[in-house]
Amino acid sequence: MPQPLQIILASPRGFCAGVNMAIESLDLAIQAFGVPIYVYHEIVHNKYVVESFRRRGAVFVDRLEEVPPKSYLLFSAHGVSPEIRRIAKERQLVAIDATCPLVTKVHLEAIRFAQAGFTIVLIGHEGHDEVIGTMGEAPQAIVLVETPEDVDRLDIVDETKIAYLTQTTLSVDDANRIIARLQSRFPQIQGPPKEDICYATQNRQEAVKRLVREVDVALVVGSQNSSNSQRLCELAQEAGCPAYLVDGPEEIQAVWFDGARTVLVTAGASAPEVVVERCLHHLQETFGAVLDERVIRPEEVSFPLPRELRNLQKVAPTR
Ligand code: SF4
Repeated sequence: MPQPLQIILASPRGFCAGVNMAIESLDLAIQAFGVPIYVYHEIVHNKYVVESFRRRGAVFVDRLEEVPPKSYLLFSAHGVSPEIRRIAKERQLVAIDATCPLVTKVHLEAIRFAQAGFTIVLIGHEGHDEVIGTMGEAPQAIVLVETPEDVDRLDIVDETKIAYLTQTTLSVDDANRIIARLQSRFPQIQGPPKEDICYATQNRQEAVKRLVREVDVALVVGSQNSSNSQRLCELAQEAGCPAYLVDGPEEIQAVWFDGARTVLVTAGASAPEVVVERCLHHLQETFGAVLDERVIRPEEVSFPLPRELRNLQKVAPTR
C-alpha cells in the first residue's frame, strides 16, 4: 500500500497584523456606518476577502470620482499618496485610514529623505498600490528600480545625497541583490534605519526556505495580484521545487501530485486561514493526506485599529 501524501504546513503563514487590522477595520465600519462603504482599491490583495466584503455591500473603487460626496471611504492596507488624501478631503469624504503602520513607516522615511534633499531609489514593483502610494509622497525625489540592471541605468545628479527604500513585500534575496548593486555603484548611499521588508514577509519567506527542502511540491494559498504570495511561490521554484499559487481548492490539479510524497502548504499574508483549511481538506479527501504543522517562528504582532474606529470597537452592534 503506497504511503499517503504528507502535508507539511508552514507556520507562520497567512494573515499578518496589517491585513488583520485592515479587515477588522472594514468589518467594524460596515457594522457601525452601514453600507455602502467605499474602499480605495482592494482592501487586501485577496479574491476571497474582496468578494466576501463585496457581498456585504463594500464598494471597491480605483478612482475617488466614483465615490459620492460625504460617503465613508476606507484606505486599504497598502496606503495612499497625499494626493488621494487631498481629493478625499475635497470631496468631503469621511476617510478611515487602514494603512498598515509598516507601510506608513516607509512613507515617513521617504518624506524625511526628500526633505533633506536626497534622491530616493525605491526598490519595488511598478504599478503596485503600495509603490504608487509611497512614490506619491515625494514624486520629484523618487526613482523606482525593479532589477539590478535598473541600478546600472540610474542617472543621479548628486551621488553624495542618495538613499534607498524598499516595498514591504519584496523577496528578501532579490532586494539584497539590488541593494548590493546600489552600494557598489553609490558607496555613500544611505538606507532606512531599520529594513523596510516587513516581519511578515520575512517570516513567511524564511519558513518556505527552511521547509521546501523536505517536499516534492509546494502550494501557496493566495491571489495572483498578491506580491508576497507570488514571492513565496517563486522562492520555492528557485529552490527547484514545483510550486503553485492557488486561490482555493478548485484550482488544485491532481496531476501536480503525480509521484509526490510530500507537499508544503503555506499562504501569503493576505490569504485567509479558512481558504487554507479548505485546501487542506481537499488534499486530505483526494489523497488521504496526513498533516504535520511546523512552526518556524512564532508570531505575536498586532496593530491598533485606525484612530477613526477605536472608540467604535466596543459599541458597534453585531449583525
Ligand atoms: S505584509 Fe507587512 S507591510 Fe503588508 S500589511 Fe502585512 S505587515 Fe503590513
